[in-house]
Amino acid sequence: MDTKSLNEFRQDLVSGEWVLFMTGRSHSLRGDEFKDFYQTKRECPFENLLESGQEVIWQYPDVNNLFATLIKNKYPAVRSGLCTTEQSVGPFKIFDPIGDHEVIVYQDHDHGIYKFSLAELEQTVKVYKKRFAELVEKSECAKYILIFHNQGKSAGASVYHSHSQIITMPILPPDVFRSVNGSFQYYKDHKKKVYAELLEWEQKERKRIVYENKEFIVFCPYVSKYPYELRIFSKEGHAHFHQMPDSSDEFFADAVFTAFQKMKVALDSPPFNMFIHTAPLTDEFGVHLHEFYHWHMEIVPHLKIDAGVEIGTGVAINVVDPDECAEVYRNAKV
Ligand SMILES: [Zn+2]
Repeated sequence: MDTKSLNEFRQDLVSGEWVLFMTGRSHSLRGDEFKDFYQTKRECPFENLLESGQEVIWQYPDVNNLFATLIKNKYPAVRSGLCTTEQSVGPFKIFDPIGDHEVIVYQDHDHGIYKFSLAELEQTVKVYKKRFAELVEKSECAKYILIFHNQGKSAGASVYHSHSQIITMPILPPDVFRSVNGSFQYYKDHKKKVYAELLEWEQKERKRIVYENKEFIVFCPYVSKYPYELRIFSKEGHAHFHQMPDSSDEFFADAVFTAFQKMKVALDSPPFNMFIHTAPLTDEFGVHLHEFYHWHMEIVPHLKIDAGVEIGTGVAINVVDPDECAEVYRNAKV
């Protein structure tokens, strides 16, 4: 591996965002800095869900054979209510945060997502899809649905017991808008789907591919904002996550499982944020933007803290070459 340092701006193909790479400095990027925290079962709000006053929506696959329980988030970021429209306050536009914020609580207190088997991750994928599809039907005001998982305290998890979350929003998140709009613009300018271009390039270069199976590919993006971030894309390419055919669940789960195992071995199980980016539920731009979009999963390990430059300029500084990250992951025996 060529160890010369990388120092350049790279512009993201889809969002147009710039990332500054500065890999020359020496950095300790192992999970130890942000060691996970522990709560005992007695301190855990996710033990005895019914008795502790949590509002249970359903249990999966069934009560006698529990894998996960879906509950309402006790401290939701959005609230339930009637759909509203945009309002004005002075020169500002505001929007009521109407939506659903739910928590998927996995069954065993000490069985965190790094310990999930392939079969358990396949169940997780099915739980995600099931609830996503239900919320598409149920949530009249939702423009966007986000599934995410915070692992570890520094990644924002306030409860040790493993859980994922799902939230609906009445607005289109700026990140999603930029990507969906960017994919459409890219098609207009290049007559090519941007994600197809992206995957073709990665498959041709092969430097940043960590793992692939028949249907999915795991790689460190060329324009990674964060050291060791991973993206998982289906090779087929579809706009909507919840429309993924059931026959693909095992391949997606295999890709996610491998990604987590690689992080566990290569980086000592760091805290991370994982989320699924998928097309919005509404097509409010008047054109079928969604067909240019491609749902995917992003996994961002927490190995550094954003400082002045990042926060002041919006330009991420990445201290590790994604080629090197991919090599570290590929070499991690799982
Ligand atoms: Zn617990």
